Amino acid sequence: MTTNAQEFDRARGAMPGGVNSPVRAFGSVAETPRFFVSASGPYVTDVEGREYVDLVGSWGPAILGHAHPAVVTAVQDAAARGLGFGASTPGETELAELIAARVTRPPLVERARNERDETPRAGLETHPVERVRLVSTGTEATMTAIRLARGATGRDLVVKFAGHYHGHSDGLLAEAGSGVATLAMPGSAGVPAAIAAQTLVIPYNDLDAVREVFAARGDEIAAVIVEAAPANMGIVPPAHGFNAALADIAHAHGALLILDEVLTGFRVGPAGWYGIDPVPFAPDLITFGKVVGGGLPLAAIGGPAALMELLAPLGPVYQAGTLSGNPLAVAAGRATLDHLDAAAYERIDTAAATVAEATTAALHEAGVTHVLQRSGNLFSIQFAAEPPIDYDTVKAQEAFRYPPFFRAMLAQGVSLPPSVFEAWFVSASHDDTAVSRIVDALPAAARAAAEA
Ligand code: PMP
Repeated sequence: MTTNAQEFDRARGAMPGGVNSPVRAFGSVAETPRFFVSASGPYVTDVEGREYVDLVGSWGPAILGHAHPAVVTAVQDAAARGLGFGASTPGETELAELIAARVTRPPLVERARNERDETPRAGLETHPVERVRLVSTGTEATMTAIRLARGATGRDLVVKFAGHYHGHSDGLLAEAGSGVATLAMPGSAGVPAAIAAQTLVIPYNDLDAVREVFAARGDEIAAVIVEAAPANMGIVPPAHGFNAALADIAHAHGALLILDEVLTGFRVGPAGWYGIDPVPFAPDLITFGKVVGGGLPLAAIGGPAALMELLAPLGPVYQAGTLSGNPLAVAAGRATLDHLDAAAYERIDTAAATVAEATTAALHEAGVTHVLQRSGNLFSIQFAAEPPIDYDTVKAQEAFRYPPFFRAMLAQGVSLPPSVFEAWFVSASHDDTAVSRIVDALPAAARAAAEA
């Protein structure tokens, strides 16, 4: 049997930093990264044979728990029929139909009657996904959505928000969240200045900044891209009506709204954040990833037929992929969506609420200044006195309290995201036993955060 430290040493001789994705190196929490060999339900097991309750969930996909039997069987059955054909399969159509059918919200008229503060909005589309294209990663999904928006509008500029992460394509790394935030990088080397100049970065939750950028350059802007509910600088919920106002401003200037639901899609509810935002709004393109692939590499772009059919082979916007719509990934995605019923969401919501409340209670007890930020069943802790609303306020928190908190949880067998800039992922498999193990570990971790 090897140790995590031995594995890390060896990995560093084979891969840059010993990893294939930066945050996995555990750099910001100053701990030896764990090398996992197996996982089941809410648990992961490392090379040393230690089991942890997992709150990373493969960064989102493991929403039913690891190695869910129905998902594993679906993948095994698909594998036995062939690993991929480089040609179309009926399963791809079924997954596309499933995505389109799920991403909906009740008709506006009905909602307006029930929720008084909602003003009806012209053009609200309750089925925003008519056509779907399957790709392999969230990065490809947002990259393609942007190319599509540029192709549709004949414009070049894209507006993004500081602290939002949309994958690692050249134009989207400026002031990005997730690993870019964890490593405190302003962007990335290797991105040509001419490409970076096509992205206008503005502060989140600031409609004045949105109005200003559109007033200045509105007729050059192809799209604004936004995380539906940001989760890559920790959780920072959108201000009430923010997404709706964003859609209105973009549309008033002939630009598109790209709603990035790679992380929130099918997680915060069957229709993602689109389905639960208290103020309905009309995105033009939506990107999905993580949950929709059930743990295998699969992501998607969805939107109305008129826009989506600008993609090749029908239209002039090119996009392709050797492994796009891979049958194993499609099978995992379909099995996962099939098992995400109302009962599953209830289990996720309940477990998330219990863990979130126990965490804030333990930190409070230890006298640690913090806020619990939530967007549906997604949550994270931020070491600030007031809830951060944008990247600047997120960065101003006492982030140094997180590493000792993280290490104390890990030592007690709980695997948290190795960065304060990430969401905590609870799954439908987090039962009372798993939740109690987390809750029991919290007081010692909270004391470690207090002493930092
Ligand atoms: N968009 C969002 C909102 C994400 O959270 C992520 C990944 N964390 C991506 C895009 C990129 O997805 P991928 O890592 O699959 O390329």
